[in-house]
Amino acid sequence: MLGLCALTLVLSAGVSKGPAAYKVRTVVIDAGHGGKDPGTHGRYHNERDITLAIALELGKVINEYMPDVKVIYTRKTDVFVELDERAAIANRANANLFISIHCNAISNKNIDGTETYCMGPHTNAANLGVAKRENSSVLYEKDYLQKYEGFNPKSPLAHIFFSNMQSAHITNSLRFASHVEKQFKDRVGLRSRGVKQAGFIVIYKTAMPSVLIETGYLSNAKEEKYLGSEQGQVYIASAIYRAFRNYKTEMEDN
Ligand SMILES: [Zn+2]
Repeated sequence: MLGLCALTLVLSAGVSKGPAAYKVRTVVIDAGHGGKDPGTHGRYHNERDITLAIALELGKVINEYMPDVKVIYTRKTDVFVELDERAAIANRANANLFISIHCNAISNKNIDGTETYCMGPHTNAANLGVAKRENSSVLYEKDYLQKYEGFNPKSPLAHIFFSNMQSAHITNSLRFASHVEKQFKDRVGLRSRGVKQAGFIVIYKTAMPSVLIETGYLSNAKEEKYLGSEQGQVYIASAIYRAFRNYKTEMEDN
């Protein structure tokens, strides 16, 4: 009997492969805003509609070319989803990556370009301004002071305190963000304003690498036209798809 047990141990040790290789199996695509929260706007378009179109296109392309990857959307229609619920959807699914899609706006109408954000301390007032605008979505939610540990988007100090929250997944978040900005610049010819950091509520509660992509400025007439067009949306989605593909390969090879 002892001999058989020993034999079993030897055999099972022989077929053991150790820990399973890392795979990027599940991605959550988060279309910013929606429903009663229109986000920012240009002359003709609301952010909530553009983010949804890009999110759906991105998911469609991933499903088409990567059947082994599970795509989960935080919304597929024009509905309001609370920021903490967006993160909870990703956490419940044990997602490997969270991609939040947004559009930018600023008072200077000449400014254009893309930015991809990770959670972390902002280095200038402009980045803080983007976080403030995006975080103001919580004003559409009931009990946001309780839900977000007393975070009040109307208080400038709250944003500064909040942006110092550390993310355990910062390295891989920055890695994916770099791929996104590289694709925007090299493949689509957009003006990349680079990878940045600031405190965003929607990505601070996620338990996986997470980015928030500002796909362009609706306050800039040329960029609004591009973001509002089907061609622009398809190009932006395809750039994010290529970034995702490169990131996935890199992560799985390591
Ligand atoms: Zn937004």
